[in-house]
Amino acid sequence: MPFTIHGLPVSQGIAIGHVHLVSHAMLEVNHYHVAAKYLPEEVERLNEAVATVRGELVGLKAATTGGQPHSEVGAFVDLQLMMLGDPMLVDAARVLINERRCNAEWALVQQMELVVEQFEQIEDPYLRERKADVVQVVERVVKVLLGHPGHLPPKRRDGLGTIIVAHDLSPADTIGFRDHNIGGFVTDVGGPTSHTAIVARSLRIPAVVGLHHIRQLVEEDELLIIDGTRGVVIVGPDERIVEEYRLRRSELELERSKLNRLKDTRATTLDGEDVNLLANIEGPKDLNQVKAVNADGVGLYRTEFLFIGRDALPDEDEQYEAYRAVLKSLPGKPVTIRTFDVGADKALNGVGARFEPNPALGLRAVRYSLAEPQMFLTQLRALLRASVHGRLQIMIPMLAHAHEIDQSLQLVAKARAELDAEGLRYDPRVEIGGMIEVPAAALALGMFIRRLSFLSIGTNDLIQYTLAIDRSDEAVVHLYDPLHPAVLKLIAGTIQAGARFGLPVSVCGEMAGDPAYTLLLLGMGLRNFSMHPGHILEIKRQVLRADLNELAPRVQRILKMDEQAKVREAVLRLAG
Ligand code: PEP
Ligand code: MG
Repeated sequence: MPFTIHGLPVSQGIAIGHVHLVSHAMLEVNHYHVAAKYLPEEVERLNEAVATVRGELVGLKAATTGGQPHSEVGAFVDLQLMMLGDPMLVDAARVLINERRCNAEWALVQQMELVVEQFEQIEDPYLRERKADVVQVVERVVKVLLGHPGHLPPKRRDGLGTIIVAHDLSPADTIGFRDHNIGGFVTDVGGPTSHTAIVARSLRIPAVVGLHHIRQLVEEDELLIIDGTRGVVIVGPDERIVEEYRLRRSELELERSKLNRLKDTRATTLDGEDVNLLANIEGPKDLNQVKAVNADGVGLYRTEFLFIGRDALPDEDEQYEAYRAVLKSLPGKPVTIRTFDVGADKALNGVGARFEPNPALGLRAVRYSLAEPQMFLTQLRALLRASVHGRLQIMIPMLAHAHEIDQSLQLVAKARAELDAEGLRYDPRVEIGGMIEVPAAALALGMFIRRLSFLSIGTNDLIQYTLAIDRSDEAVVHLYDPLHPAVLKLIAGTIQAGARFGLPVSVCGEMAGDPAYTLLLLGMGLRNFSMHPGHILEIKRQVLRADLNELAPRVQRILKMDEQAKVREAVLRLAG
């Protein structure tokens, strides 16, 4: 019997395909007994995986420390190498394979749990936290054992795709699906503005998250339909339902092709105001989509996707190539490249990893950059070198303090001085701007306006930090409300302050690409919207219908309201 489950729609579109259950790293590894005659092979499998990881770690150290004897990365790698050699871990796992006939992954994870328990008994908080290193190094070995990221099922003969079903997926996992022809994915946890959701939208993979126990409710290979627009998952649909969804999918495609007619129309309101519709991208791979909708430029290039999901950091030349590719392919159009926003749900693989009690409030974005000035400087040099190929603007994420801007600007000056000394060219007109995504920044705009050339409001984080809810936690997702009066005041205040002081302001959070908020933002005075390219034509349609003379006074009245329900009603009426 088919049945339906409801979750959170995070990436539009319909996917029909067969389930592939994915276990996240080692926590859900298969448990099975190995036949006695294969035990030596199983031990050998473990030995080989350990040797591979050892090689990776040594390579990582060489690549990232540049031979410096006391670097933080070096210390972290040494610690993981030491753990790999600890008899309690790998040696004991070999014993478990031989004596209990456990498969290698299972044996290693059992031993890891024992070692972690021992760490938990330690009183010294620093040493206690080293258990995270044990988990990480075991995770590396398990990934090799599983043939990561392989393990994807072969293409089906019935022409249907594969639908990934997982408890959770990191943004890096999601990017890994790019080359595997994945039709869609569903997860137990996650929220619509989590980075995993953002990546899914960017890859145009329909996705539904926050389904709680989907992994327990479906079986490998079972037929599944995902409606990523409505947040519906249908398990075991019959032929009639499949047909209905095929039809719905064609209707959606038709709708898209109608929107395509707006591609070359300028986004101008009924009363003649020009609006800039810019694209959010994760790398050069998104450029085709940006061009397909004829975006006015790039308003947010999330460069951290160049850094995460890999073992060694990209060097200056690799970064330069990526930035240059984007700038070169959009001649004459502004390209805003954000310095890496790593940390929280976009943690780097191991490098500099530490246990964080509260990652969203921890060493993230500009805080991380300033804690790793060499890594930051390398990026700034790559950006400046690339600036001669187009109209570059550099944007710094998650600012809250004046000294964060000052220190970042000093590093930009240092990068310039180095390039001058080396005779390398850059565009001296490159502007530096910052993101307003912490309430403190939105409430103390003067120090930003004095130091920066433009502002961009990151509503995803601004909402998360204003309402104190984790944007990737589905348990609190019902509290994530862009229309909360406090949120609207911060957004409107920033737009108005920018207008007063002649500083361009954009919105680059998910709100900018949601047609439910276009009229509201236009009425607040916003003229620069940056969003996933897939939303640009839909937002253009909204802009073309807007009359600002009529909207502005109505939005001013909404900003005075202090009841969410009233705000919601009034925003709905803006479209009516
Ligand atoms: C935001 O916070 O709104 C934003 C655009 O940045 P990110 O989603 O990458 O955190
Ligand atoms: Mg952000």
